Amino acid sequence: MNLLVTGSAGFIGSSFVKQCLGKGFKDYTEMGKGVEKIVSLDLLTYAGCLDNLLPLEDDARHIFVKGDICDPALVEKLVVDHKITHIINFAAESHVDRSIESSEPFERTNVYGSMVLLDAAKKHGIKRFLQVSTDEVYGTLGDEGSFTEDTPLAPNSPYSASKAAADFFVRAYVETHKMDCVITRCSNNYGPYQFPEKFLPVSILACMNKSGIPVYGDGKNVRDWLHVEDHCWGIWLALEKGKTGEVYNIGGFGEEENITMARKVIGAFDISENDGIRYVEDRKGHDWRYSMDPKKISADLGWKPAWTLEDGLKHTISWYQENKSWWEPKL
Ligand code: NAD
Repeated sequence: MNLLVTGSAGFIGSSFVKQCLGKGFKDYTEMGKGVEKIVSLDLLTYAGCLDNLLPLEDDARHIFVKGDICDPALVEKLVVDHKITHIINFAAESHVDRSIESSEPFERTNVYGSMVLLDAAKKHGIKRFLQVSTDEVYGTLGDEGSFTEDTPLAPNSPYSASKAAADFFVRAYVETHKMDCVITRCSNNYGPYQFPEKFLPVSILACMNKSGIPVYGDGKNVRDWLHVEDHCWGIWLALEKGKTGEVYNIGGFGEEENITMARKVIGAFDISENDGIRYVEDRKGHDWRYSMDPKKISADLGWKPAWTLEDGLKHTISWYQENKSWWEPKL
């Protein structure tokens, strides 16, 4: 298997590549079996960081290319030159708050870029194309129920709208061109190497700096927390064993209110709740609750998480405490 992995210098893509090549934190024995080569394509936007791939610097199976998924000539050249058999698309503008400020970069990379990759896959007969998507394409839930793969898409932010648009393109290429594509949709990821604009690293650093965790609204919005390595394990299973044209939800065992997550982080530091939390104006159009039903990937592909939220959180907090040189330049 010769893999083209896009967005591989980002939080999740870099974890996937490292896990496939035996450099993850936990051992997912089957992961990466049969991979001969990984070509990593990343534009190194503000969110991309080559240091995320440092553990692979001496691994000849890994080739990093700085470039844009919106560049059809480059994408085609990589597919041909490296005899790519499988493509996994992680590359994206990924931060909801930025999409509220400006939608254009989201439309460009998340929609047009995905289409460029699909076209290259179609033209060169790629065996399988996997699109990494999000639970946010389903919209928001009330206090009950969970998203299944059959939940209609109802994105509420420009970010989730762009991800949903890409999902529809993938579906259209399966139906129209009979391509072999799979979509995975996951809940909120956490873990080491997450860019310090997302809730968990922001919370950890706020506790380290004693500046107070900024919590939107009343903090009662619910997210489902998934360790990045368990997410990548699900992506691997979907790549290897998923059925053509299917969607697989990944997540579902870590539902918490934002305020509870904030309290869990505070609990690892010597700070009182009053000093540890500051409530800030709610995000525009803030989705109330996400909840994933992972029955399908569990039953059909045998996925189950290896990290508990408690262990994953402890490990992640320690990682940020020990890796100031990684996050400090990104602030
Ligand atoms: P990230 O922002 O950390 O990384 C994105 C990477 O894509 C960066 O390295 C960036 O340089 C690269 N990139 C951006 N535009 C590019 C372009 N035009 N060409 C090539 N590379 C480009 O994001 P992440 O958290 O690692 O998310 C990865 C994927 O997972 C995204 O598709 C995202 O929508 C999805 N996802 C993330 C989460 C989460 O909790 N982080 C949850 C659900 C789904």
